[in-house]
Amino acid sequence: MAIQLYNTFTRSKAAFNSIEEGVVRMYTCGPTVYARPHIGNFRAFLFADLLRRWLEYRGYEVRHVMNITDVGHLVDDADEGEDKLDAQARREKLDPFQISARYAAEYLADRKTLGMLDAMVNPKATEHIPEMLEIIRGLLASGHAYAVGGDVYFDVQSFPGYGQLSGNKVDDLEAGARVEVNTDKRHPADFALWKSDAAHLMKWESEFGPDGFPGWHVECSAMARKHLGDQIDIHTGGEDNIFPHHECEIAQTEAFTGEQFARYWMHAKFLQVDGGKMGKSLGNAYTIDEVMERGFEARHLRFALLRGHYRSPLNFTWAVMGEAKAFLENLDRMVDDLDRVIAAEAAEPLEHGFDSVRTARAEFEAALDDDLSVPRALAAMSTLRNDFVAQAFSGEPAQAALNLMRDFDRVFGVLRPASTDDSGDARIEELIAARNAARASKQWAESDRIRDELLAEGITLEDSASGTIWRRG
Ligand code: AMP
Ligand code: ZN
Repeated sequence: MAIQLYNTFTRSKAAFNSIEEGVVRMYTCGPTVYARPHIGNFRAFLFADLLRRWLEYRGYEVRHVMNITDVGHLVDDADEGEDKLDAQARREKLDPFQISARYAAEYLADRKTLGMLDAMVNPKATEHIPEMLEIIRGLLASGHAYAVGGDVYFDVQSFPGYGQLSGNKVDDLEAGARVEVNTDKRHPADFALWKSDAAHLMKWESEFGPDGFPGWHVECSAMARKHLGDQIDIHTGGEDNIFPHHECEIAQTEAFTGEQFARYWMHAKFLQVDGGKMGKSLGNAYTIDEVMERGFEARHLRFALLRGHYRSPLNFTWAVMGEAKAFLENLDRMVDDLDRVIAAEAAEPLEHGFDSVRTARAEFEAALDDDLSVPRALAAMSTLRNDFVAQAFSGEPAQAALNLMRDFDRVFGVLRPASTDDSGDARIEELIAARNAARASKQWAESDRIRDELLAEGITLEDSASGTIWRRG
């Protein structure tokens, strides 16, 4: 069955088909690096990571581009107000390039910590100024943009599709505009492609003047085009990117190329705190370190952020973190148990369990094909675990279950990494063998002593038909 994806543009789920067979060109809006990204940003990024991994699981080659916005954009999306990167540079009394370099490095390190696959390229806006100017010139030439003083604006009334992605109507945007409208604009919804400001710290010379800088939206249009071409398969971001950012990207790219820009627009709902948005500027945002200081591992956080459906809001609480950790510990334990029963090579492998594994795999794959329905996929894994506990699979069904766990982890990347140092496990296996020998010769005191020794280390033993199973905790 084909993968079905929900497209914000059409407001419906549709079968996914790539432009080029077997290849997916995917662009994800990355962070503005004026501060360390918070875990809310990572919800949006991890959604893209999961989508990419699922497409790869289904055999696509994914060319994933994730930019770094290192030219600040204005606090107010209506092209007014302070530039966050500029403001942070002034606060820290540093050059804005030093600010963006520091936070970009932290972002790239955080991606690794959270097990995200590397993008094909992480383009920086500051390194694509000529490509942005090329689009701006083209839009001026075709009448989709106009220059006023040193500024250049996109003329939204020249692009009939403006508003289609977000459901906004140009007329309503006019009615909703604030009183102090920028009188340089032909229409209040027109957005800046280029701004001139001698006081801005990051600036470039162009035919529009000596001290200019690009508008935020044109940055992503230029970087996507440079690295993926005029038409891409999937564009992702967080829900706040829908308007104005992605609406404006569509208008300027399509007005420039005359072709459809992205076939599928996909957006992750916000990570919330106390029912409201988690945001850097709201002062309620956690970093990865702050979560790990509470005793969680990065993979627990990765899982907590991936666990809900990406189109449902997710409220971040410590209880949610605890549940994510407990769920993973159960799966880790299952992998340990499967490893052991497979290694034990039971004399009479029990063939039951095949149905259970087959059903779990079919449901796991169908769920992720269905617009990445993670909750359904996890329910399938839980059912498999319950069946395994109840039926004690061994032999080939155990191997099939282990293969499914490994496939699950190729997509989720959250299970405990296989230990490279198994000397601890080998010692436990030896003690269990000694205990079994003691039991075989009816040396009950000795067998109890070994059981107690292991128990003191937090290791419990369970004797079953297929041998002795041990677990930590
Ligand atoms: P920014 O650095 O503000 O440009 O944000 C980078 C990305 O993080 C964008 O795709 C935003 O949509 C996304 N984002 C920001 N805050 C949140 C949040 N609380 N939950 C999910 N995604 C977010
Ligand atoms: Zn963007």
